[in-house]
Parts: sequence; C-alpha cells; structure tokens
Amino acid sequence: MTEPRNVLVTGGNRGIGRAIAEAFVADGDRVAVTSRNGEAPEGAHAVACDVTDSASVDAAFTQAEEALGGPIEVLVANAGITKDTLLMRMTDEEFDAVVDTNLAGAFRCARRASKGMIRLKRGRIIFISSVVGLYGSPGQVNYAASKAGLVGMARSITRELGKRSITANVVAPGFIDTAMTQALPEKQREAYLAAIPAGRFAEPEEVAATVRFLASPHAAYISGAVIPVDGGLGMGH
Ligand code: NDP
Repeated sequence: MTEPRNVLVTGGNRGIGRAIAEAFVADGDRVAVTSRNGEAPEGAHAVACDVTDSASVDAAFTQAEEALGGPIEVLVANAGITKDTLLMRMTDEEFDAVVDTNLAGAFRCARRASKGMIRLKRGRIIFISSVVGLYGSPGQVNYAASKAGLVGMARSITRELGKRSITANVVAPGFIDTAMTQALPEKQREAYLAAIPAGRFAEPEEVAATVRFLASPHAAYISGAVIPVDGGLGMGH
C-alpha cells in the first residue's frame, strides 16, 4: 500500500482516460479529471479544461491542486482527437487541430505539472500515445505525427528532470474499444483485427493497468520508455 497521491488525468470523463481515472480512484489516490463537459467518474473531481488553451490548462491545474490539497504528482496526458483523411486531402486546419490537441496539449499540461513536481522533487508524467505513432497509418498523417512527437517529448523531459525523481513515459495503445475506434469504418476495424497477433481488441482497463504500473513505486527506474499495449500489433518498433 503506497501513500495516496494527487493524480490528474486529462480527458478522464470517458474512454481510456475514464478507465485510468477509475483505476487510480480504486487504488485510493486523489484524482482530478479534466473534461470539457464537466463529467467525472465517481470518486474523482471534475475540472473543466480545454488542452488547446494554456490559460485553461493553468486554471484547471490550479483548481485541481486546490481540490486535491497539493501539487499534482502524477499527470496522465490522455486527451486526444483524430481527424483522419488522406494526405493529399488533409487541410491545414485538420493537421493543426490534431497536433494542437494531442501534442501541444500534452506539452501544456506537462509544463504546468513540472512546476509542482520540481518543488516536490518527484513526479510521474505519462503520455498516452498510440501504436500508430511509430507504426504509421494511412489517413492518419496528422495523428501519427502528433503521437510520435510524444516520444521525443518524454525523452527530453527525462533528460531534463530525471535527476529530480521525475519520470516521463509513453504508453502506446493499439486498438482499444472506445468511441474513438467505434467511429472507424467496419472494413478498417476488420483489417486491424486481422493484423493483431492477439486476435482481439483491448478494453480501456488494460491500458489503465499499464499506466497504474508506470505511476507506481515499482516503475521508479523506468523513464523515456515507450510501453506498448497493443496485442503485438506494433512489435519491433
Ligand atoms: P475518446 O474519444 O473516447 O476520448 C477522448 C478524450 O479526450 C475525451 O475525454 C475528450 O474530452 C478529450 N479531449 C479531446 N479534445 C480535448 C481538448 N481540446 N481538451 C480537453 N480534452 C479533450 O478517446 P479514447 O478514450 O479512445 O482515447 C484516449 C487517448 O488514447 C487519446 O489520446 C487517443 O489518441 C489514445 N488512443 C486511443 C486508442 C483507441 O484505440 N481508442 C488507441 C491508441 C491511442 P471531451 O469529452 O470533452 O471531448
């Protein structure tokens, strides 16, 4: 049993983020989740936040710190969007929106979280990337680029803050059954299923278990790593 910690999960109102928040709540941690609709799982504090807006991120952290009674010790940067289309048709707006949410949004949260973590001299930053960040995916040039960027971000944070007992890691889920993947065309879902060695899609709770491990004392010496939760889909990258 470890001491309860202050955890903030972005996009924790649904999907993978919700499962992650629920896992921390179940473990007895103090949890804040950001969402744009003000919802949170039972036992977690709901904080409004749009990760594309630095002022909103700053205000959300301040509100979460007040509600939880201290700085955030574990940040899970999970909020993300897709705007899929083929390269030749992708607009600047579609590219920018995805990078602004998935990559710059994670940066804004990590930057704000780092202030408290540096003062505490400990912290865990966990970025939710995707198998396609390193595997690539047709129709997802914007999304894959944003998710690959998280690897460089985690590794740079590791080199900057590693000596202060702050770790930064990337979790790279494969195909997880959430609203995001339910929106995919049936043909694409079938093609993914055929390519996954595990022969199935995963539940959000399977990603949550890995995040929970990275935030635990057992993972104190793991930093700058990319941990796949993909049933073997991306192995070797
Ligand atoms: P969902 O679409 O179910 O949830 C996305 C979450 O991100 C929502 O909570 C949403 O909040 C939040 N969000 C989106 N834009 C913003 C924003 N500008 N500011 C704040 N919050 C925002 O997605 P999943 O649960 O499937 O995905 C979660 C993460 O996991 C994403 O980063 C995704 O890329 C990644 N992932 C998912 C995979 C999958 O198979 N499902 C596979 C690999 C990675 P709101 O309700 O307010 O819109």
